[in-house]
Amino acid sequence: MSDKQGMVVLVGAGPGDPGFITLDGLNWLRRAEVVIYDRLADPRLLENCPSSAQRIYVGKTPDPAGQDQEAINRLLIEHARAGRLVVRLKGGDPLVFGRGGEEAGALRQAGIDFRIVPGVTAALAAAACAGIPLTDRRLASSLALVAGREDPAKPQSSLNWRALAGIDTVVFYMGVTALDSIAANLAAAGRDAHTPAAIITAAGSPSQRVIVTTLGQLPQAAAGQQVRPPALIIVGQVVGLREQLAWLERLPLYGRRIIVTRTRRQNSELSARLAELGAGVLEAPAIEIAPVTDTSAINACLNRLGEYDLVAFTSANGVAAFAEHCRRLGVDGRALASARIAAIGPATAEALEQLFLKPDVMPDTFTTEALGTALAKLFRGEGQEKSQQPRPRKVLLPRADIATDTLPELLRQAGAQVDEVAFYRTLCPDSLPADAAGALRDGAVDWITFASSSCVTNFLALLTKSGLAIPTATRLAAIGPVTAETLRQAGLTPHVIANPYTIPGLVDAIVRAEIGGV
Ligand code: SAH
Repeated sequence: MSDKQGMVVLVGAGPGDPGFITLDGLNWLRRAEVVIYDRLADPRLLENCPSSAQRIYVGKTPDPAGQDQEAINRLLIEHARAGRLVVRLKGGDPLVFGRGGEEAGALRQAGIDFRIVPGVTAALAAAACAGIPLTDRRLASSLALVAGREDPAKPQSSLNWRALAGIDTVVFYMGVTALDSIAANLAAAGRDAHTPAAIITAAGSPSQRVIVTTLGQLPQAAAGQQVRPPALIIVGQVVGLREQLAWLERLPLYGRRIIVTRTRRQNSELSARLAELGAGVLEAPAIEIAPVTDTSAINACLNRLGEYDLVAFTSANGVAAFAEHCRRLGVDGRALASARIAAIGPATAEALEQLFLKPDVMPDTFTTEALGTALAKLFRGEGQEKSQQPRPRKVLLPRADIATDTLPELLRQAGAQVDEVAFYRTLCPDSLPADAAGALRDGAVDWITFASSSCVTNFLALLTKSGLAIPTATRLAAIGPVTAETLRQAGLTPHVIANPYTIPGLVDAIVRAEIGGV
């Protein structure tokens, strides 16, 4: 036993979409020392835990006899007794068909401190995502949540079907294997067999499916449609409102599966934009950012930062690495007071603005070449808005180890003295994540996005390593002409090229292709 008091927090993870967790739940996850999670809790949520947190999966074999439950209870008690902050992450809400009550009971009995954080239960998420209000002033003012599959050990149904037949909206959890009995029992208890009904699978996730039918037709409607758990059945007049209120299916990228290939950190912005538009996103980072091993060149240039007339940034990663090394060396931001600052495009400019640095130069199109041309003009003294400033001479390019010669060449030709310094390294990850590899193997990928040439090169290397190829029906989206050219050189055809050459431009190009059926 440790001196520190351990505790268990039962946290509802919400269903289907990792965004459905509460802020409170997320805050506990961020502090967790041990996370014990279920089959229905989205594993992406675990990315929020401290990297040192121990992750324990307990969802493999649902055992109705409750032996698993005993083992889980023991696990919770054991880790809490060891003085740890244990987050018990459960799909949906912990107290709705989630055995949260049993777990809390066992903890109380063992004298362990616990909290319960509510979650969005599947019925609420399914209703919202399918456009089916569970209550409606005109159609339904009562609601029941029902366990569709009962304990098989029980000789007969313990549900009061007569009472359920009188409830306006009835939602069945765990009911896909009991559609016959649900339809038969509810109708026999007096509910009209023509009552609208819906089966909603994987609610909240990009593979959500909704089948609309009637109570009497439930088993037939599901037959042959490969209805798999997790699924809910909603019975009631409110199901009819879906015709007017369905919204997910109207999103421009609904039903599309898209692989994004940037760095893990940068993927999230692109993924979020695509997911917002309805796409199912698989992240396959093709670039890893790593620190440089020998920092002597960085130290040398940062210690003389005040000597540069211009510092030109060609990526947000470069800005981040530059800031990190300035902090490491204790460089004061005012060392840049007399230097002009250039950014290749809006994402780099935004990263600079986060550091209170406003770029003086940004080209009209966001390529290295365009940046080089714009800067060359500056060195030649052409088109100077800031005419009071002297023509620059000395320039610093904080870049990646694999950057090309295009920019320094253009600058040198214009008479600049260029210090090109690798501030970070880009590496190729070891392998593709299993979900992306599986989707490629099944040919179930609609798009792959490439936000740089090195993404293309590394992603293709990762494919080869896994013995995979890009499926023939998969379309490729390039952020700009240089990335598109790299694809062509690899014998691939970019189906869309963003314009402007930015992440929003990339998303727009895909949406336009989908809407226009290009
Ligand atoms: N505690 C959970 C329920 C767990 S019981 C909650 O509050 O949601 C498991 C059942 O929940 C499944 O059989 C299914 O009926 C339902 N369920 C969970 N996630 C779901 C989802 N994404 N889509 C549809 N039903 C879901």
